[in-house]
Amino acid sequence: MYKYKLLDELLGKDGRYSFKRDGLLSECCTFKIGGAADYIIYPNSADALIKLITVLCDNEIRHTVFGNGSNVLFPDDGYRGVVVFTRYLNDIVIKNDLLCVHSGTLLTLAAVSAFKAGLKGIEFAYGIPGSCGGAVYMNAGAFGGQMSDIVIAGSYYDPAERKIVEINDKDHHFGYRRSLFTGTDLIIITSSFKLQQDDPASIKERMDINMRHRVKNQPLEYPSAGSIFKRYPGYYTSKLIEEAGLKGKQIGRAQVSTKHAGFIVNLGGATASDVLCLINIIKETVYKKYSINIECEIKLI
Ligand SMILES: Cc1cc2nc3c(=O)[nH]c(=O)nc-3n(C[C@H](O)[C@H](O)[C@H](O)COP(=O)(O)OP(=O)(O)OC[C@H]3O[C@@H](n4cnc5c(N)ncnc54)[C@H](O)[C@@H]3O)c2cc1C
Repeated sequence: MYKYKLLDELLGKDGRYSFKRDGLLSECCTFKIGGAADYIIYPNSADALIKLITVLCDNEIRHTVFGNGSNVLFPDDGYRGVVVFTRYLNDIVIKNDLLCVHSGTLLTLAAVSAFKAGLKGIEFAYGIPGSCGGAVYMNAGAFGGQMSDIVIAGSYYDPAERKIVEINDKDHHFGYRRSLFTGTDLIIITSSFKLQQDDPASIKERMDINMRHRVKNQPLEYPSAGSIFKRYPGYYTSKLIEEAGLKGKQIGRAQVSTKHAGFIVNLGGATASDVLCLINIIKETVYKKYSINIECEIKLI
């Protein structure tokens, strides 16, 4: 039987999905790199997401789940299977000092909503171009804050057990750029952030300072996936890369940013092979100079 028959039936009769067959992954990620996936699907609710995952699992269809695609390098030859994006799961509910989101909610939107409600604590995430689910997955952080500082509860879908599980802050097992979810098939559905009341003008000022810092120090004028490498304990990786003389190093149309050596930028038309080649050169050069193995922060599929 044609392996996508039941998926086609679901997409044909159920209006809760935006989707593309043979859609380009380069159009769905901030790096603007990646070939076609058999299907790219955006469910518009948590129920629709779970229904979709059930159909994919029942029919043994290869699939993977992303938020906003801002921390990933998709392959040049695309993905034989289904790439699901949670971007349209974007409800926000504020109750006293709790901000509760669905996983596709953009971090920046969550930070703006908190500011408007006079709640502080999530300013650090303003300007990170990811979803809340993607941020919880990897315990995203900036300016001295990280998701583990504010996450107090959440829920995920476990496809193997076919159930939604509610968890508290400790159950997330956060570490540096990792969590309970790292490397698993669990799908984050909701997260609740514990914030504190503050004067909106002060919150806005801190958000603006963070944004000015990003604009000044990050190559936002080019497509990228943010910092390519994790920090090595005790070192700033971007500094190591810069001191190894790699700032501006270019392979094809991929370049170690001349503004921030922790970023690889797409100068226009870069391929995943260009980026991977550059990543290998950086790793080898840093290893030769410092005997340090730096690890990728971005997801490679
Ligand atoms: C210009 C720029 C600046 C950046 N600055 C920062 C920064 O300051 N700090 C920082 O930490 N990061 C930064 N990033 C990286 C990135 O934005 C963050 O890591 C962000 O949290 C990723 O979210 P996302 O939704 O885009 O994740 P995606 O790229 O979509 O996914 C990343 C990983 O999370 C998993 N995932 C996503 N959603 C779910 C879900 N609902 N359930 C289970 N798994 C899920 C995916 O499977 C994948 O493994 C930056 C990126 C760019 C391009």
